[in-house]
Order: sequence, then structure tokens, then C-alpha cells
Amino acid sequence: MMKAAVVGLMMTCLVLLAGGSVSGKQCSRFVTAQMRANAVANIAKFEWAAARQNSAIAAAERWVTMSDDELWALITSQELPRDRYTNIDIGCPNCGTQLSYDWIGDPWNKPWKLKCPKCGEVYPKNDFYVFYKTALDEHGFFRRELGDRTLLFNADHPDPKDPLHKLYVDDGYGMMDEKENEHHIIAYYNEWLQWRTVFNGLPILAQAYALTGDNLYAHKAAVLLDRIADVYPDMDFLGMKDLGFTVEPSHRGYEGGIINRIWETNMGNYMARTYDIIYDGILNDEALVAFCSQQAEHYKLGPKSSIEALCTHIEDNLLMKILEAVKSGKAHGNTGMDHRCLATTAIALDRGEVTKEWLDWLFDPGFPGEHMRVKNPLPWVLVEGLDRDGMGGECGNYGRGWTNSMILLAEMLAAYPEYNSHDMVAEYPKLRQAFFIDSRLHCIDAAMPRIGDTGGAIGGWIRYCDPVKLVRGYKLYKDPRMATLAWRYAEERPAKLRLESDIFERDPDALAEEIATVAKPEEFSLKCEHLGRYGQAVLQTESPENGRALWIHYGYGKGHSHADSLNIGIFAHNVDMLPEMGYPEYTGPWPKRMGWTSHTISHNTLMINDTKSVRSPGGKINLFTVQPPVRAIDISSEGSYKGIDTYRRTVAMVDVSDTNSYVLDVFRARGGKNHRLLYHGPGNETVVTGLSLTQQARGTFAGQDVKFGEFYDGAKGWNYQGSGFMYLSEVQRSESPVRNAFTVDWNDEGKHGRIKEGHAPRLRLHALTPCDEVALASGQPPKPERECNPPWLRYLIQSRLGENMESQFITVLEPYDTTPFISRVRALQVTHDADRNSVAAVAVELADGTVDILISCEERTRVEVEGGVKFDGRFGLVRLTDGEVRTMRMSDATLLSHGEIKVEAEQPAYEGTVTAISADAPTDHRVSLDSPLPQGEELVGGRIHFHNAVPLDTTYEIKAVTPDGISTGEITIMWGLEDCTDFTAGYKYLVNVGDRFVIPNHVGLDR
Ligand SMILES: [Zn+2]
Ligand SMILES: [Zn+2]
Repeated sequence: MMKAAVVGLMMTCLVLLAGGSVSGKQCSRFVTAQMRANAVANIAKFEWAAARQNSAIAAAERWVTMSDDELWALITSQELPRDRYTNIDIGCPNCGTQLSYDWIGDPWNKPWKLKCPKCGEVYPKNDFYVFYKTALDEHGFFRRELGDRTLLFNADHPDPKDPLHKLYVDDGYGMMDEKENEHHIIAYYNEWLQWRTVFNGLPILAQAYALTGDNLYAHKAAVLLDRIADVYPDMDFLGMKDLGFTVEPSHRGYEGGIINRIWETNMGNYMARTYDIIYDGILNDEALVAFCSQQAEHYKLGPKSSIEALCTHIEDNLLMKILEAVKSGKAHGNTGMDHRCLATTAIALDRGEVTKEWLDWLFDPGFPGEHMRVKNPLPWVLVEGLDRDGMGGECGNYGRGWTNSMILLAEMLAAYPEYNSHDMVAEYPKLRQAFFIDSRLHCIDAAMPRIGDTGGAIGGWIRYCDPVKLVRGYKLYKDPRMATLAWRYAEERPAKLRLESDIFERDPDALAEEIATVAKPEEFSLKCEHLGRYGQAVLQTESPENGRALWIHYGYGKGHSHADSLNIGIFAHNVDMLPEMGYPEYTGPWPKRMGWTSHTISHNTLMINDTKSVRSPGGKINLFTVQPPVRAIDISSEGSYKGIDTYRRTVAMVDVSDTNSYVLDVFRARGGKNHRLLYHGPGNETVVTGLSLTQQARGTFAGQDVKFGEFYDGAKGWNYQGSGFMYLSEVQRSESPVRNAFTVDWNDEGKHGRIKEGHAPRLRLHALTPCDEVALASGQPPKPERECNPPWLRYLIQSRLGENMESQFITVLEPYDTTPFISRVRALQVTHDADRNSVAAVAVELADGTVDILISCEERTRVEVEGGVKFDGRFGLVRLTDGEVRTMRMSDATLLSHGEIKVEAEQPAYEGTVTAISADAPTDHRVSLDSPLPQGEELVGGRIHFHNAVPLDTTYEIKAVTPDGISTGEITIMWGLEDCTDFTAGYKYLVNVGDRFVIPNHVGLDR
């Protein structure tokens, strides 16, 4: 093991002046000399710090044992192609397994070979590196035509007369199989194993240098960076096409440099950051100059005869090129990635006015450049791109990526005092929400609903709540709520609060100690939540223990979204009862992604017209009530299908005990052809009662003659709008219309390992809707092996067929463990004057004799329900034990009665019009209303719905009642910028003068 040589620790920038590059950079900025000195002092003092140093040294060991020549030779040049797939249609040439990023490679022991994880076959069959070395030009750059082609043969079949002699032989541009299909084995290796190994090595070396001050690590990193700077100006991802490389259609639009434009931004971060961190360590490295200048001479490269020349080479041919790549779109990722890449590189360059100009560009309306029709400069991201709750404009982890990038940028700029044109924390109050969004995205504090392309299906039960992120927030804001949340997520253990960067602090424990003091110990209880533009509402039990949660999705304009508005999910009994498909096998226009994974057909929602619904059309919450034992939400999303009148779902979660809840689901739709309600449980085995089904001999739900995956009603590709029925196989159908109630009961195969001994979680569905056809069929979640998904899930399709349909689907979902707790569910007779599809009344009879009567009305309606219940309003629950009323709940209603027992309200809701708005105070957004509200706490915590033409949801939690209206607190009423190209043009709002508002009353009774 190497000893950490600590040299020159206390040198300051001034001392280093003599060695500084001609272009202006004087010293390391991300980890300064003072920070390295602090680290070494902490390592001497604290065990955890010493352990950190030891693991950094261990990780870097294989890199420093390589010679400079070996490191230098790792870098490949433009003409050796890169690819992220070997063959997207075929997968493994031997076993046909779909492999996206799953090939196994071992660059240290088996260079230039890939192994199939399924069948173990290894490709290519030639020794590529022998050929590679013969193909290097005078600069050491790969030129395919220079190589000795006699070296290209299948090593298992060395005889030239052998028909297999040239099969599975890759010269860098792909190998052919028996059927003349091309597989990009070497290109895949070059991207995933060669280049990514180098990119992983750079931060490892930088960290080892930062924690030891040993110049050897800096030296090794500099050898890599110097060589990358030789090849980088020519790197052009799509330019490989001009060299005769078959570029996959899925790569179009992904220009890029070394790799595609999205991931290129990450590579930029690694390279620039490493350069900055190791900079102090190379300033007196004569051996480095000797090696690089010798290489330069031998390979006819530019001047590298001094450290200044070397740094200029890296800065001009690497860092400046990365900055230019961001501006040209060669490095261009999802929102936040460009910004990070640019800021990291500009600060690493640390070149006075040049750096300032680049950082200013982040705030320019033209950012990131001409290649983007819609721009996303920081002011746009922080005013409009992040929604009012701090979530980014994409689904799941993609959206979290926006917030995480903004947090990083705020930290980076705060730590670079030379740049004082902007203070992100002070200028953009919405950034604060970025620290709270993770916890608000979760159900029962344990799992994030997988909305859109995110996570695995069944196995994706993961908590993304990092105490460290909240500590970083506390560092920027000193907000005690962040301290409290951090303390809870850290399970009150200070070690879990430690930041990566604490080791570089003079007192590395100070921050954690402060948080432990500031954190307020509080009884933790879950909240029902809804997130505006992101469109995720969660109804959940107050206690996370044995917690149950129901979520519904109604997002607006989100990236990586599925066609799945009003999709629902249930977490109960430690299992995801209605699993989302999650991340597809492949992104891009991959057929199964377009026809299944991101298509309406694979979701728990309603399909109309036998077509895909609109992606991310947005929805409006009409009612949101939390009155345990019942919690309910009603959402409309008419934009889901063009030309329809109603697309609206009311879901309620009702507790029956501390461990069990059921869900009432009422889906209403008007307009369009063929209404098909889709559900799938957690497994592929079902027990059906009350329904007789006939097995379809062959084919798919699309018909006997349509094979699995066969696009029978539209062409494959981005524009596929058809039914997706060809992805449902093993079809069973009712041969005639179904008029009676029936149940379907799903198993859970437990592949995710979440089912504890002695438990058997299941989902039973009680269907109460007359249908023209009921069918069961099986669909495939992506990547069963990798994501712990079962290979198939069983789908229930309830179809009401015909033109211009009107439907009210009524369903009760019963997630249970081992034994069902509902004995019967039935639709109740109900009399009223409204549209017959606008009122639902259901009796849920529990095993213990309790009977719940639930009433859901689309609009306020006066109804009489069989059994003597009278109701006037939108939503009501009566719970009877032995025929006696125990509990009553009503929302947006004036009357609920059963015999003599009743609850009444003078008015169903407070209603009126918005008279003024104010978003001037970041913590007190005000809406003035034209009708008086009761002062005090009565309405605080309740919801106010604003009715307007804004396409996304405009429901808010009332944070305070003011003399003339309400305050939404720090959740902004601002929607975004009036004009994205002119920041002086003012703002657009989610709430506007003249909007109608409704604050429903919620009244209850317990006996
Ligand atoms: Zn295979
Ligand atoms: Zn989905």
C-alpha cells in the first residue's frame, strides 16, 4: 500500500503563480490546497476520515500501478466507433436475449471481449487488439484501413477454408452473424468498457489526490487528460456514420462527441472536474512534462515541452471544447445536465473574464444555443421549469435530475466567490422546494410511484430520500425543517449526515452537530399530498407502519411520460399491488416501448377508441378530502382523448382496521368509441368468481390471427397510436355480455423478496359494471430478470363497446394478506334526477359485519339510496355496525342521513371569485377572494380549487386564512415566464383574477 505523501499542503495560489498556465488558471478550485490540508488533518484525527482515505487509495491502486504508456494507450480516437447497443433488434447473436446495457465485460483481464449474461457466449471471436495496434497512424489514432486484415479471423476457426473463418469477426465497425446481421461488439465495448473505464478512473484519481496530496495520482490523471485532449477535438459521435459505421436509427438526434450528446455532458463533468482537482499536483511535475513531450515528439503532436504548454493543451483542446460542445449541442442532455457541465467546466477553467462570460451564459435567454428551439436558461428552469413543488418537468428520476442539478449548481456558484453576478438561493425562491420534493414524492415514506420511464415494475420499491441532500439544503438555507427531515432520514445518527465534502472542512462535525441541535423531534405522521404540474396525488394512512397508499397520476407536459393519465397504484401489505411497467427495455422508438410499456394498454386506466391516450395532458382536481377512515380524490383529465366530454376518476381509500384499507374506484367517461377499463394485479395467477371465461385458441387480445408483438393497426415507431392489444397474450374472454358482479383475485409471486414468512399478500377486485365483454390476458413487464419482475402479469380488460359511449365503471379493490376482509360488495339502488352515469352508490360488507355505504356524485346531487340513506352533495360515507351508524363523512355536501342520524352543513362549500393575487413575498403567496371565509384555523390544511383555463392542476393547500382570502404560503402561484425570451416581460400565474374558487366543506360524525 502506498504511503500518502503530503507535500506542499499549505501552498497558496500566490506561491503557485510561477507554475500557473499562461491562460490564467492559478490553482485548484473545487478542492483547494487549504481543503486538502484540512483533509489530511482530519485523516490523522478521525477513523472515518482515515477509512475514507484508505478506500480512495485502494480504488486508485490499479491506476497508479499502470505505466504512463499503458494509460496513454487506453484512449481511443474518433475512428474507433462507439455504440450503446450491439444490435437493438436481435440482442445476443447466440441466444437472442434482449440486452440493452447488460453485456458483461472485463477490461482489466479480458480486454475487447463481451460476454452474454444469459448464455455466456463471448464475442468477438477475433483478437481485436492485435488488429487495432496495426491500424494506428503516426499520431497513434485508429484508422481502420491501415490495419492488417489478415489478423481478422475467427480464432476458433483458423482455417481460411472453414466457412466460419470470418464469422463473428469485428474490425471495430461491427461483426456479422450467420444471417448477415451486424453486431456492434467492439463499438459497444469501446463505449461501455473502454471509455467508461477511463471516465470512472478520472474521479478516482482526483479523489485519491485530494485526500492524500500525493502528486502521483495527479500525474496519472494528467497523462489520461493530456491524451484525451489529443483526440477530443475530432470526437464526433454521428460523424462515425461518414466513416462507414452503421449508426442505429435510435441514435439520430443524438449528435454527441465521444458518446451521445446526453451522456457527453456527464463526461464533460468528469474531465473538467478532474483537471481542476489535480491541477495543483502537476505544477512541478517534470516527469509528466518529460513523458508528454516525448510522446508529442514521437507521435507528431502539438507542443508539450513545459507544464504551461501541457495545461494550455488540456484547457484549449479539452475544456474549451467541452464549453463549445454545450453551446453547439454536441453536449446536450436533459434539463440541468448542460448547465452542470458548463458550470463545472467554466469554473475548472478558472480564467477570469472568460469564465465569467460562460457562467453568465447560463442566465442568458439564449441558453443553451441555436440548436434548441425552446431554451432553458437557469431563470427559466427556476421560475417555470421546476414546478411549484420543486419537481423537474420529467417523470420520476428524470424529474429529480432537474432538481438535483439545480441544487448542485447553487452549491457550485456559492463556492466560487469570484462569480458574483448571481446568487441562486436569493434570486429563485422556488429552489427551496427542491429539497422537500423527494419526501413528498413518496408513498408511506417508503416507495416512489414509478410514473413514466422510471425504475423497475414490481421490484422497484426504493426510497429516494437522502439525508445528505437535506443537510446540503440546510447549509444553503439554514431552514430548520430541512434539519428536522435530515435528522429523521438519518435515523438520528450524525454519521449519516456527513457530506462528501465535510472531510475538507476545518471542523468536519460542525454541520452535523448543528443539525442535531436544530432538528425538532416530532411525532412523524404521513400526509396526503398532491403535486401540481407533476400530477401525483397520494392518499395514505397516517402511520407508515402497516401503511397503505393509493396514488393517481395526472401530470402535464412531462418528459419521459407514458400515455397513462389517471393511472392509479396501490401500496399495501408491503407489496406494490398495481405495478407500473417502469423503465422500458430500450428508450427511443423501441416497438415494445411504443406499443406496450409506455402505452395506455399496459396501465391501470381507461382506454377509449382502442387507441393510445394523449401523453401528459394534465388534469384538474375537483375534490380532495382527508377524513379518516376515508380519503378521496376526484380528478378530471378530458385532454386524455381528443373529442371526448368526460374522463374522470374518483378514488377513495377507506380504512377498515390498522392494517387493512380498500379502495373504491369510480371511472366516468363520455364520448368516443369502446370504453375499456384496464387493471393488472401484482402477479399472473388469478382466481375468478362470478365469471365464465373461454380460452382463445391462439393469437393475442388483438385477435386469433395477430401474433404477439405484431403491429396490426399502425406502423411501428414514434407515431404508433393503435391499441397495443398485440402485447396481451394467453387470452380468455367471456363469450357474452357480463351483467353481474364478479371478482378477480391476483397472487404476488414475491420475486422482489418483500414478502415475509407467513404472509401472502393478494389483491382482489370486485367489479360492479355491466360490460359487453370481460377478458383476461397476460402482458410482459420489461426485463423480468434484472428488475425482479415476474415474466408475466395478468390483465383484466372490461369492455363497453359501441360508438359515442357513456360509462360509469364502479370497482372496489381489496388488497389483503392471506385472508380477505370483505365479504361482499354490491351496487345499491339509488334515485336521483341527474345523469344515470353520474351517481354511484355501493355497499361494502366487511367480514366482521360492518357495512360501509359509499356515495359518489359527479356534481352535487340529491339522492336517496336503498336502505334509507339520504344524501345531498358530492361524496359521502356511512359506516354501520349491526345496522347502527358508527361513522359518517361527507364532502362538498349539505346532508347525509340514515334514519334519525344525520350530519348537515349550511353550505356545501365556500365559493366565489378571485379578486387579486400577490406573489411578492416568497413565503406568503396571497389570493384575495370576493366572499368572506371563517377566520382562524378551520380551513387551514384544507384545499382550495381554482377553476380556470390553465391546463395543469390549480388546487392548493390553504396555509393560512387572511383577512380577505387565503395564503398558499411558500408554494408559489406563479406558473412561469410571460415571455421566455425576455425576462423583463413579467410572469404568468396559475391563479388569476376572475377565476372561480371552491373550498368544499368536509363534515363528519363518529358515534
Ligand atoms: Zn446469449
Ligand atoms: Zn406508466
